[in-house]
Amino acid sequence: MKSAGRKSISVSFKPRELMTEHPRLNGVWTAQIITLFPKAFPGVLGESLTGRALTDGKWCLETIDLRPYGIGKHKNVDDTPAGGGAGLVLRPDVVGPAIEAALASAPPNRPLVYLSPRGQRFDQKMAQKWADGNGVIMLCGRFEGVDQRVMDHYNIQEVSLGDFVLTGGEIAAQAMIDAAVRLRPEVLGNAESTVDESHSNGLLEHPQYTRPAEWYGRTIPEILSSGHHANIEKWRHDQSCALTQKRRPDLWERYNDQENH
Ligand code: SAH
Repeated sequence: MKSAGRKSISVSFKPRELMTEHPRLNGVWTAQIITLFPKAFPGVLGESLTGRALTDGKWCLETIDLRPYGIGKHKNVDDTPAGGGAGLVLRPDVVGPAIEAALASAPPNRPLVYLSPRGQRFDQKMAQKWADGNGVIMLCGRFEGVDQRVMDHYNIQEVSLGDFVLTGGEIAAQAMIDAAVRLRPEVLGNAESTVDESHSNGLLEHPQYTRPAEWYGRTIPEILSSGHHANIEKWRHDQSCALTQKRRPDLWERYNDQENH
């Protein structure tokens, strides 16, 4: 175990026993990740803010290794696609029991999602919804993906990181967990700092500056050193609006609709 908040499941035990092998942090926001590559976790989530919070038990990461659920001596997890074609598909009789194990240790109402390029696009709203709950169960696909019957049987929501194709769900899982966990007040410490970030109020964030006052002949906008908080606030808001209008007309339109209703 790398840290107090992290629990991983090794290959040498029977699946059911594994799920009870380590004490859970009851009541703590928990990400349960079903993956063929548990060693990929916590990955970047082990660094900085999320990493510190993980070590401090402010949130919890649990990996459920798919491999021990594999079939036969070789623990096969995949097979060729029905109907032919390239690649391999994760078997339902392998993924199913792993999902059952995850569900067995999850409190009710924990969302169960499959990371998939065909899914609903992940966004700040979804991150906030997950952050407001007790955690999330994520199924990471590999190869050509997961047998469709798994999604149908467990009524799994498919969620996409964006309109591109990754090799596996693990990077998408880490990105989404990062976005959700940092919205937990106990993780970020100062909840204020998420309030006027990009995407939280429907606008992109204003530009940020720090020392030195001059760099390659470029100075910091004068108003930021004026000490006049109301004016600074207004300047930042105006910058936010201008930036959003220019870069993301889609967001700008939605923002104005909201403001006008
Ligand atoms: N054949 C599939 C892609 C499989 S990619 C298709 O065309 O839809 C292998 C795995 O990577 C997927 O099962 C999924 O878990 C993950 N993955 C790939 N792209 C992703 C994305 N944009 N968002 C989330 N997960 C993704």
